[in-house]
Amino acid sequence: MPGKLVVGNWKMNGDLRHNDALLADLRAGWPVQAMREIAVCVPFPYLWQAQAALAGSVVRWGAQNVSEYARGAHTGEVAAGMVAEFGCKYVIVGHSERRALYGETDAMVAAKASAALEAGMTPIVCVGESWAERESGAGEAVVVHQLDAVVSRIGRRIAETVLAYEPVWAIGTGRSATPEQAQAVHEVLRKRLRKHEAAAGSVPLLYGGSVKAGNAKALFACADIDGGLIGGASLNVDEFLAIAGA
Ligand code: PEP
Repeated sequence: MPGKLVVGNWKMNGDLRHNDALLADLRAGWPVQAMREIAVCVPFPYLWQAQAALAGSVVRWGAQNVSEYARGAHTGEVAAGMVAEFGCKYVIVGHSERRALYGETDAMVAAKASAALEAGMTPIVCVGESWAERESGAGEAVVVHQLDAVVSRIGRRIAETVLAYEPVWAIGTGRSATPEQAQAVHEVLRKRLRKHEAAAGSVPLLYGGSVKAGNAKALFACADIDGGLIGGASLNVDEFLAIAGA
């Protein structure tokens, strides 16, 4: 089974009762000896619940965002060090919804990746182009620019991250990139990572955007696709486990 990592992004979904069932089913449903690692990135208030339900299992957990600041007068923000206290392995940074809806710039995303690393967690750095950017032929330049902004901040530590290619036009739309489209961008990102830092050539490269049980196998079979970042489908345990096992 090719691939390294499949991460669920619950987005702003869940409640205590449903999470209990979902987390228990995930823990029970994912074999200890599986070749792929799976993780779920949950809303901040449920980090304790993920930790309680998944500690001691092979399933990892994480958050969907962190502040770029370590502490202080940033009302409403959550520092990476706080998130780390709940045993998180991963933190998603730069999701396109945060870039588009909350004005996160490349510099902010880079600072968040740095904050996550400083707190001992692995940032899952999201990059992706809009449909208009793709149509204009600028898609690859956009994702390379987003990657370079993070490298300019964290340097060689890019080798300690996970990179997720999530075309904006494929997120939550039901319209996934084809394996050929995704592989082409992943190849560009892989080369760029290697150019920055030889060790970064083995950074897990995840594809995200309307991945379902039905299309996961073909996507994960691509040479430079090491797994997936799964949004909507991660809320259904059977679907998520089917994707992870594809
Ligand atoms: C995501 O939110 O990261 C994502 C990939 O969403 P979806 O799978 O629902 O397209």
